[in-house]
Amino acid sequence: MQHYIKSVECLDCGHHAPFHHSVTSCPKCNSTWREIRYDLDALSTTWEKVIKARPFNLWRYREMLPIQNLNPDLFMGEGGTPFIRAVNLGLMLANQNIFIKDERQGPTSSFKDRQAAVSIAALKESGISELVIASTGNVALAYSAYAARAGIKLWTFLTSLVPASKMREVGLYGSQVVKVTGSYDQAKQIAAEFARQRGVHFDLGSRSIPCIESMKTIAYEIVEQLSEYQLANNENNNPNAARYPVPDWYIQSVSGGMGPLGVYKGFCELLQMGWVDRIPKLAIIQVEGCSPMVKAWKQDQEIADPVRSPKTLIHTLATGDPGRAYTLLRNKMLSGSGGAFESVTDEEAFRALHILAKMEGFSIEPAAAVAFAGLIKLVRSGVIKSHETVVVNCSGHAMPVERNILGDDWSGNLFSPSETLEESHEEGLLAALSNVAIDRFPRIAIVDDNPDVRRLIRKILESQGNYQINEATNGKEAIELIKIEKPNLVLLDLMMPEVDGFSVLDAMQADSATAEIPVIVITAKELTTDEKDHLRGRIQSLVQKGDLISDKLAEEVRGLLG
Ligand SMILES: *Cc1c(COP(=O)(O)O)cnc(C)c1O
Ligand SMILES: [Zn+2]
Repeated sequence: MQHYIKSVECLDCGHHAPFHHSVTSCPKCNSTWREIRYDLDALSTTWEKVIKARPFNLWRYREMLPIQNLNPDLFMGEGGTPFIRAVNLGLMLANQNIFIKDERQGPTSSFKDRQAAVSIAALKESGISELVIASTGNVALAYSAYAARAGIKLWTFLTSLVPASKMREVGLYGSQVVKVTGSYDQAKQIAAEFARQRGVHFDLGSRSIPCIESMKTIAYEIVEQLSEYQLANNENNNPNAARYPVPDWYIQSVSGGMGPLGVYKGFCELLQMGWVDRIPKLAIIQVEGCSPMVKAWKQDQEIADPVRSPKTLIHTLATGDPGRAYTLLRNKMLSGSGGAFESVTDEEAFRALHILAKMEGFSIEPAAAVAFAGLIKLVRSGVIKSHETVVVNCSGHAMPVERNILGDDWSGNLFSPSETLEESHEEGLLAALSNVAIDRFPRIAIVDDNPDVRRLIRKILESQGNYQINEATNGKEAIELIKIEKPNLVLLDLMMPEVDGFSVLDAMQADSATAEIPVIVITAKELTTDEKDHLRGRIQSLVQKGDLISDKLAEEVRGLLG
């Protein structure tokens, strides 16, 4: 393999040193914050052709990774994850250009697989046979799998908050699990001290060259995949543009910040090679109970105050002290590319988790849902515009689905736990069946002549809870439907040809069996004073169609039906 590595540059004193796996600090000033540099001029002309001939995984970019020789024996299908347009979420948020980088599809179901694949390959190459890491869960899983393949002994220091099932899987791979009763930052300190005493290599996370280098492959893949998407859909309509399109935003849920640091470096390299003409804005989303970066950003601080005791159920994101990573990210945002630091609550994240599952068919872990909750928040507050292209890192899979999200009674089980098979005779089963029958759920009628609006409202309702939904496509159908079904709630459009919404209301009032059914009017038009008078006292509330992207409709429905 031909080599393009030039040097390792110290981010503190600017000193350039040769690259060696075993040297982890600047020989001049001892700083551990360093970045590797490549001969981009030599690569920029030929590299594109070279990579296009290779399989779509992260080793496609091997010349730009800190590895001397590929070791295919360690490969498990890392990188090369799907790039998928979020059609229904896009409908809900009125943005047709929201894409999901589906990092759930790595070998251990999170984007930490990139980090583990490159780091373990680098360690193996340099002859290291034992390694210590600290983790909030997913790093331990990914490193365990790759360490098992590489025959490297792995010590994992996990906080006791990591779900037991994740810890068991780490143990299953043969790693040593050390459970630390304390915060993640404390686990990290103890792990570092343990490694020092034992004389074993300790993974430095954001300060480790292979880690940052692995994450940048996400940027490379995004530009290739966005370009392919646009070609396939004839959307590449700017002949003067740079070779590859760039999204306007890269959104990620953030703990220590390694992901965005690496992705940013990737885009910088693409810019230097002339592949792209700009760098996307970064949206860094943290969970409110552990959001040191967001707090520091909003108070215009250069250094983040550590959060000593994180208050969140989303333990994957519980880095209380981001240290230098925050300052580096802040400087990148201030120096031109722009972006946002935003926080979301656990509850907003859990709601986004349900939306992703029910709207897009994505089962994601709460930490990944934080990024989507951030997307929703930034769109609703107008920071992300409807014409902008957005890529969300879907960073991890919900497996096993944690109990605090779904509770115990989510599945509508037909058997009660105490029942044995012999006991459950047919009658009992049939009786149990009625518990899951659909008419147990509140019935809602959607009345609108526009199929896109009906679809959007249905999706919004489905993502909020269990409802039995009927649709009517005009006023005449609506009157019939309401008479027969007697729904618990009607969502009514006003402007429809022939029989309009006002007439539907009149018909409902005229029949004592339907007069009391609550109605929410959903309208695109500004109502006249006359029309408002006409509706007064006859409807529960009024939602503008433009407001469908907000939470308003869902809140009104929850308020009326519980
Ligand atoms: C590690 C992790 C994050 C946070 O990533 P950083 O870039 O290290 O802050 C987000 N989501 C999931 C699923 C993770 O495992
Ligand atoms: Zn230095």
